[in-house]
Amino acid sequence: MKAIRVSAYGGPSVLKLEEVPAPQPGATQVLVRNHAVGVNPVDTYLRSNTDNRGPKLPYTPGSDSAGVVEAVGDSVTRVKKGDRVYVGGSLSGAYAEMTLCEQTQVHELPGSVSYAQGAAINVPYATAFHALFHRAHGEAGESVLVHGASGGVGIAAVQLARARGLTVIGTAGTEKGRRMVAERGAHHVLDHNAPGYLDEVVKLTGGQGVDVILEMLANVNLQNDFGALAMRGRIAVIGNRGSVEFNARLAMNKNAAILGVALFHATPVQLAGIHAALVEGLRNGTLRPVVQQEIPLAQAPRSHEVVMENGHFGKIVLVP
Ligand code: NAP
Repeated sequence: MKAIRVSAYGGPSVLKLEEVPAPQPGATQVLVRNHAVGVNPVDTYLRSNTDNRGPKLPYTPGSDSAGVVEAVGDSVTRVKKGDRVYVGGSLSGAYAEMTLCEQTQVHELPGSVSYAQGAAINVPYATAFHALFHRAHGEAGESVLVHGASGGVGIAAVQLARARGLTVIGTAGTEKGRRMVAERGAHHVLDHNAPGYLDEVVKLTGGQGVDVILEMLANVNLQNDFGALAMRGRIAVIGNRGSVEFNARLAMNKNAAILGVALFHATPVQLAGIHAALVEGLRNGTLRPVVQQEIPLAQAPRSHEVVMENGHFGKIVLVP
């Protein structure tokens, strides 16, 4: 089968399409034939070995895909050959024609959800759920600022928060992005490049500020976020691309909490709960992933350039 392999850390050009043997499932494992593969910003950090987090070389990148079960091990009961599934993590990497998973890593893909949308579920939706509900404990009746709502995680957060009964304010950097954020359920949409937009957040909450901020770019926004936060508010840091200096008194003055979020640290029990909620949300139509662009698997280097550009209105997906 064809797979993208990385044999040396570096820029997008280290992603090479190669012929590799198809994996065979062990007793508890599932082999999935991928119809679409999700590209996440973390795939670029691992490829370039940012913070020495790169996987052992050589490797096939990616954790997210959607497709059809090709084969299952003897003791697999969750799925059978031919089932439509999305993949949340894998043993062999997702940027490939087929992906080997533990059975706990595959989840039902309802018939109303396309394979491209299926590839947009795992990291974005699971992270948004973990941040919003497990870390920030967002409750119905509260308000949330999704700071960067046009990307994969942001769109997921808007839909999950809206379905749970929070008032949702989303931001995006382009007109197209803002339109999509509104269409996906945000009550209010702001431009994170416009001067004074955080003052609007305070006005929209009747002067109180928001209860929760989901932050996609903490190194740029953290200091200013406190001005838009309610008393006893929580800031969940999901994305950060550099260092930030801020006055800790801002947190003291509001009894505020700054919460780190890493999906990687969600427990197996939390992950099982997250995917149960996501499958149901996909079935009942409250969760509708947005695909910005589909790119052939062989052009994986281009997908890594596109995913790091500004001006999002959805998810970048590779097609094997
Ligand atoms: P993405 O699809 O590339 O989207 C990036 C988002 O950031 C877009 O909505 C973009 O908006 C927004 N943005 C750009 N400038 C901003 C600003 N000044 N203030 C607020 N938002 C701004 O990425 P993603 O998959 O949604 O992930 C978002 C971030 O979370 C990335 O840094 C990613 O690495 C991180 N992440 C972390 C975890 C975790 O476990 N902690 C998991 C998944 C992702 P415009 O393009 O409209 O300007």
